[in-house]
Amino acid sequence: MDEMLKWGVPQARPARYDVLFEPVKIGPKVARNRFYQVPHCNGMGYRDPTALAHMRGVKAEGGWAVVCTEQVELHHTSEITPFIELRLWDDRDIPALARMADKIHEHGALAGIELAYNGMNGPNLYSREVPMGPGHLPVATFTYDPVQARAMDKEDIRNLRKWHLQAVLRARQAGFDLIYVYAAHALGFLHHFLSRRYNHRTDEYGGSIENRVRLLREITEETKAAVGDTCAVPIRISVDELLGEGGLEKAEVEDMIGLIGDLPDLWDVTLAGWENDSRTSRFAEEGVQEPFISGIKRLTTKPVVGVGRYTSVDRMVSLVNKGILDMIGAARPSIADPFLPEKVFEGRFDDIRECIGCNICVSGDFTMSPIRCTQNPTMAEEWRKGWHPEKIRRAKTEKPVLIVGSGPAGLEAAQALGKRGYPVTLAEAGTELGGRVLKEARLPGLAAWIRVADYRKLQLNQLANVETYFDSRLTADDVLAFGIPRVAIATGSTWRADGVGHFHTVPMPIAEGADVLSPSDVMDGRLPKGKTVLVWDDDHYYMGGVMAELMAEKGYETIYATPASEASTWTRNTMEQHFIQKRLLEKGVKVRTFVSVDAIGHGEATLGCTFTGRQEKIAADSVVLVTGRLPNESLCLDLKARQAEWADAGIESVVAIGDALAPATIAHATYAGRRYAEELDQPPLAEGELPFKREITGLAPL
Ligand code: ADP
Ligand code: SF4
Repeated sequence: MDEMLKWGVPQARPARYDVLFEPVKIGPKVARNRFYQVPHCNGMGYRDPTALAHMRGVKAEGGWAVVCTEQVELHHTSEITPFIELRLWDDRDIPALARMADKIHEHGALAGIELAYNGMNGPNLYSREVPMGPGHLPVATFTYDPVQARAMDKEDIRNLRKWHLQAVLRARQAGFDLIYVYAAHALGFLHHFLSRRYNHRTDEYGGSIENRVRLLREITEETKAAVGDTCAVPIRISVDELLGEGGLEKAEVEDMIGLIGDLPDLWDVTLAGWENDSRTSRFAEEGVQEPFISGIKRLTTKPVVGVGRYTSVDRMVSLVNKGILDMIGAARPSIADPFLPEKVFEGRFDDIRECIGCNICVSGDFTMSPIRCTQNPTMAEEWRKGWHPEKIRRAKTEKPVLIVGSGPAGLEAAQALGKRGYPVTLAEAGTELGGRVLKEARLPGLAAWIRVADYRKLQLNQLANVETYFDSRLTADDVLAFGIPRVAIATGSTWRADGVGHFHTVPMPIAEGADVLSPSDVMDGRLPKGKTVLVWDDDHYYMGGVMAELMAEKGYETIYATPASEASTWTRNTMEQHFIQKRLLEKGVKVRTFVSVDAIGHGEATLGCTFTGRQEKIAADSVVLVTGRLPNESLCLDLKARQAEWADAGIESVVAIGDALAPATIAHATYAGRRYAEELDQPPLAEGELPFKREITGLAPL
């Protein structure tokens, strides 16, 4: 077993933060402090239960007082295939959930479970059961599935109450301390019953507020009666759907809460839908929920928890002191830093890895892959790879490492290798650490991304064994002259300006002297020459939309064109797409979809319809091409070409990491840096061995 080193030396903590470490009574249970990891999805669910159990266990180890599951499907008649959540359909699901509860308990936290019956949010593609809801309505899914939910009759309601109760008892058997009644985010039958948008019933479950709350009341009462003093029962509810009068609004929801204020043991208050509750930093500041959740405590004597992507400790303290919240809820801040509570407790504020609000974590759920985090590359790798956010294997040798380039990949490699104890030299061509995030954080809406560099800079400041050199654009001669045995090339990438991307895999015709720019040019300060700018987005993540936004802000007449059906289409996975398109339209950007840019001339561009190929010419003084990128690989290639000289120079290995190997997201780069650091001097994999652990479903009898 490798020796693991734990990072961080406790410091003095200002007394005003002590309030965050007061215990909170939640029904029959006591939370050890006010830090509460609210339920959050993670793309692992029933497919990766052990990896998931370890991930939650690390949160408990990091000091969270309550650690919850994601939504757990409570009955097979409502499941949300293709999304991968947890299941509690029958007794056979109990062991996987018990494993998670045990991991959470191992570190002294309370384990919470969010039981969900999605109802008309799930098309039931796996079970093929007919979805049910308050009325006959098409299912409300992200993918507009051609399926309708049927209206529940009295027997359906009785059945559902029985199924909920059965799941409650199973959850208790699995060892959970808090068993949720979930009525939030427009993601389940209870929310649908509360909302006039979905509930058009004329019986005792529809119409008046009392009637719409009836099912929530009955289910909460039954849950409480079933668990007695053994578990706490929170209700999770959405205070506003941000739809105006058509949807749930704060005043109406407060009336609902007022009716049953002291019935649950805790209120977990959110915004609906999920995309409003978990907005990216591009579209919402920290604490955007605050006006919606303030005042809830007047309606109940029970503790209230709420989220707001809170990473500012003073803000957390003020929420408690002002009587807005009793517990600080967090999903994303707990993903970016599972040890946030411990670091606050120990006064180690420089060590907090603040969430940047990019929602790459959310993309794990939307792409059905294990959760990834830009800031915390160990997320979901706790069991799969044996990585830990705060502990790392002691260096196996004392051989120094040279890292060339200080973007997210180089910085993460440097800080992680430094913590392992290796002597590290970090060489940067520029005068500041941060690479691409230095430039991207200056673009509209992306300021919080600078935290990727900030956290790592603060870590490097504490590492005497990492030396940083600026103004050092290294050549192969330089690297050979240094003779540092291990070399990681993290020199990043450059946006192409020849049109090669997803759509065109060969360069497009561009007239000589035409004004064509790439995002790299724009970020380096070059601006289009004319008045009308065409931004062609064949990257489909954020950069195309950001470029168009920037051009509009700078007063250009801006046309945004994409071969996709909508602007920044991949950002559906970060729940930003509709916010982006709205912003572009509001800024006067003309959005053209299903078009390619086929050629660029002087003052004009040729667009092609992606279906018919029919071409048209449009006036455009300048074109910003947001297409592919090329790795900055010349240093790596030069060194590889001179491999014969390595031994004499004392060099053992040269490895390209991050964008210098293959351009991708910032999350890919921090992961690549971490991986390089974690795997240095590790024994090579045996033939056929996988670089991660995986869980294989046990075969059922034939
Ligand atoms: P990644 O996302 O992979 O970390 P970035 O593009 O963010 O990559 O960062 C690359 C960094 O490498 C930039 O700060 C750049 O200035 C630096 N760099 C590029 N080439 C060299 C070089 N030859 N020597 C030193 N630093 C370099
Ligand atoms: Fe925050 Fe981004 Fe990490 Fe999600 S992926 S927790 S939004 S830094």
